[in-house]
Amino acid sequence: MVCANCKQKIENKDAFCPHCGKSSKRRDTVFEVIVRQAIAKAPWRQICRSAMEENEITEEDILKEVESRGFNRDDLSKK
Ligand SMILES: [Zn+2]
Repeated sequence: MVCANCKQKIENKDAFCPHCGKSSKRRDTVFEVIVRQAIAKAPWRQICRSAMEENEITEEDILKEVESRGFNRDDLSKK
């Protein structure tokens, strides 16, 4: 994942960005919820849109994470 503040790469386990010091915890929590919605084939693009914008999470971020967990992005809800 990338830091929502400075856009540098950070580890998921980091509670704070090592580059700018901003807490990544809330974004992490939101990110995890959206990934789970996507894996559950929920219409995550709609229901999570405002949360994604708020936390600067892109569709691509979610899709990459889903793929890294062994799911195929083409199996996810397109709605
Ligand atoms: Zn940062």
